[in-house]
Amino acid sequence: MSINIKSPEVEIRESRLGSITGFGGSAKELCSKSRSGKLCEKRRSFSQCLGCSSGNALCQLVMIQDAVVINHAPIGCAADFQDYNFTNRVGQRKRKLPLKNARLLNTNLKEKDMIYGGIFKLEKTIEEAYKRFKPKAIFVTTSCASGIIGDDVEEVTDEAQKKLGIPVVFVACEGFRSRIWTTGFDAAYHGILRKIVKPPVKKREDMVNVINFWGSDIFTELFGQIGLKPNYIVPFSTIDQLEKISEAAATVQICPTLGTYLAAGLEQEYGVPEVKAPPAYGIKGADMWFRELGKVTHREKEVEKLIKSEKDKIAPGLEELRSKLKGKRVYVTAGAAHGHSLIALLKDLHMEVVGAAIFHHDPCYDNMDPKSDSLGYVVKNYGDVKNFNICNKQPFELVNILNRLKPDLLVARHGGMSSWGPKLGIPTFLMGDEQFGLGYEGLINYGNKIVDVLATKEFVKNIAAHCELPYTDWWLKQDPYSFLGGGHSD
Ligand code: SF4
Repeated sequence: MSINIKSPEVEIRESRLGSITGFGGSAKELCSKSRSGKLCEKRRSFSQCLGCSSGNALCQLVMIQDAVVINHAPIGCAADFQDYNFTNRVGQRKRKLPLKNARLLNTNLKEKDMIYGGIFKLEKTIEEAYKRFKPKAIFVTTSCASGIIGDDVEEVTDEAQKKLGIPVVFVACEGFRSRIWTTGFDAAYHGILRKIVKPPVKKREDMVNVINFWGSDIFTELFGQIGLKPNYIVPFSTIDQLEKISEAAATVQICPTLGTYLAAGLEQEYGVPEVKAPPAYGIKGADMWFRELGKVTHREKEVEKLIKSEKDKIAPGLEELRSKLKGKRVYVTAGAAHGHSLIALLKDLHMEVVGAAIFHHDPCYDNMDPKSDSLGYVVKNYGDVKNFNICNKQPFELVNILNRLKPDLLVARHGGMSSWGPKLGIPTFLMGDEQFGLGYEGLINYGNKIVDVLATKEFVKNIAAHCELPYTDWWLKQDPYSFLGGGHSD
């Protein structure tokens, strides 16, 4: 396993897993390169935008309900704080939790601090956070600025922990550390594994950790059918709850891009078995995922019953949806494993996936088990996907590709990418709730939404007619991979 929780900083995905952000070719080609040790990063000579690890760490930590997060950074790095607060409050409302703002502070590093160091500001902010909120734990996330000046955040947090008597956790997530922003998830989980999770006191045979974002609760009902209870982590959990995740009977994750590190770390450090299967999207994926969960929790018979009853329930609706959607051409853009899951789901609806823009590629996950290979599973069970692009967003490539392929539908996971579909006259489906498409019922949910979205064709055509793209013909007529390592991936 690749996890070293003794180190104060998480090892980045590029070196830990060999992950990349630049590739243009087919899904099959990418899989074969991943398995043969021939996977190479293709650098872009022009890069338009990318995310930041800090944001991914924050989006997990901010929603721990009784903790405080301090972003040790210039104020500009806090520009997206309101997004986390919005998601936090919407999630609290959905879960009937007390409504309160996210407890998120920024140390406001300035030019002078770049010269004299920002440690004093950090110490004062930790004191202030404790005085104001009396949290159960404090997380301190770093930034490019604090990393460049070399502030010893580990030392400050260790000292504060001794003084305050609560965990004060250093989370190393400077934006420049990794081109792969999901390294920020790993950094947050590294901190949780190091300083929050305690050794198990008693094992809970019915409790399953569910590593997820902030989607709707579908597991209470599904797991209830097989005598299990979901323990949703990390958003909307508490420090007390996180301390005991080592007591669970198993860990599942809705997306290995999100949860690979925490799931593998819990198995390595506390023997909590990780369910090693492709995510539960599409029929075959859901079968494999639930069967593996049944095996790990000794509920094989109950799981077989659940699979049968769920499949019987969706059968008539699924046939109807398949007849409506058969052959419709769809392009997918999403984060890595979730993008693979969406491809499986769309192919199960008998749609033709003409291409995908996936935000990075992990040739393996932290458990190093080929059973978890989400893209390999798609290629093996549903066939190849041409026009498979690995890009850390890069809308200029997306617009070029969409303009060439002219799909009937764009399925997007991120708002910034979805806006390009309507501008090109393509009906576009944006879905933020990752649990919406999960399991057997997820196929029906997705299929019905897609039928609705396809009906917007005339509307989006109108939008496109009134939109001026920022890209000229000069770019749209060029190979979309012109700036990617000098051409195609061969
Ligand atoms: S940490 Fe670096 S990349 Fe991230 S928001 Fe701050 S300056 Fe930008």
